[in-house]
Amino acid sequence: MKRRDFIAGLGVGAVATGLSGCKAEESLTQNNTSNSTQVFNWTMVTTWPPNFPVLGTGAAELAKNIEKMSNGRIKIKIYAAGELVPALEAFDAVSRGTADMAHSGAYYWKGKNPATQFFGALPFGMNAQETNGWMYYGGGLEIWQDIYAPFNIIPFPAGSTGTQMGGWFNKEINSVADLKGLKMRIPGLGGEVLSRAGGTPVNIPGGEIFNALQLGQIDACEWVGPYNDKAFGFHKAAKYYYSPGWHEPNATLEAIFNKESFNALPDDLKSIIELACQAMNMNMLSEYVTKNHQALQDLKSEGEVQFRSFPDEVLAVLKEKSIEVVDELVASNKDVARAYESYKKFQDGVKEWHKISEEQFYSSR
Ligand code: CA
Repeated sequence: MKRRDFIAGLGVGAVATGLSGCKAEESLTQNNTSNSTQVFNWTMVTTWPPNFPVLGTGAAELAKNIEKMSNGRIKIKIYAAGELVPALEAFDAVSRGTADMAHSGAYYWKGKNPATQFFGALPFGMNAQETNGWMYYGGGLEIWQDIYAPFNIIPFPAGSTGTQMGGWFNKEINSVADLKGLKMRIPGLGGEVLSRAGGTPVNIPGGEIFNALQLGQIDACEWVGPYNDKAFGFHKAAKYYYSPGWHEPNATLEAIFNKESFNALPDDLKSIIELACQAMNMNMLSEYVTKNHQALQDLKSEGEVQFRSFPDEVLAVLKEKSIEVVDELVASNKDVARAYESYKKFQDGVKEWHKISEEQFYSSR
């Protein structure tokens, strides 16, 4: 008797963990049947510190929602970064089935495939609204799932930060010359762009940024936006808060699933997961919109932060370097080329539309 038939035969809420050794076989035989008594005990790892505001709490909320929507048929135990595996091993843990799922950001996995960055954030790319359009209706999610397939992983968007801030600086940036030698904590493609504009990108984990900034080991840093940045106290270590976040016009967070674990679910539970991720994608953006503007008001009323916008000349150079970086990536990898072709086509179209809708409206109100 197959293990699952045996469990179902017990007629109790028995346990099939994502760690079982016969998942592939089960997925072939159990794909489309709904068994309302079967309970799936899953493990989720994340790339966030425990209870980290919005990102970590969002991952916990996602797990809770899936459990509620499935009426307890999927139970998820969450391990924050470092509790089961280190943050940057979450992808491998899901790939090999050590964890059934993870909540993270796709740009962390550029070492696996440089195309993953297009599903996280792209300098001078699309904002949250536009990215979601591309993901759900413009073919983006399909390409994303194709690119993760060789790793035995199925991704879904599961959170958006909205447009981030440009970061905290201990001096003013009045020209491109001010970027020369600037040591800034800025990871990913943004860091590569800064380096081509004369700066020195430094990649250090969130928890260490404040000390590095205060001790002068770095001159600047970017993190997320007013809410998360204020919680880390960056306003006590640097005076100038710059906008816009040219390097992260949105960051999409992901929920990624081990393929066998996901395929072992009956169809109704698969839909629940997909829609719970979609709800979390929207919910996180709403939470950021709310908390960022409240934190901005707090920072303003404390009166110590100097708000600045990057000069047009600086943004123009950063944009030119961004195009250079992406063009080289496109030439080097066929997955990047496929993702970028789709991304750029959508962005060009939506930019034209938003020029006469969102942009005009923003500047008129
Ligand atoms: Ca950031």
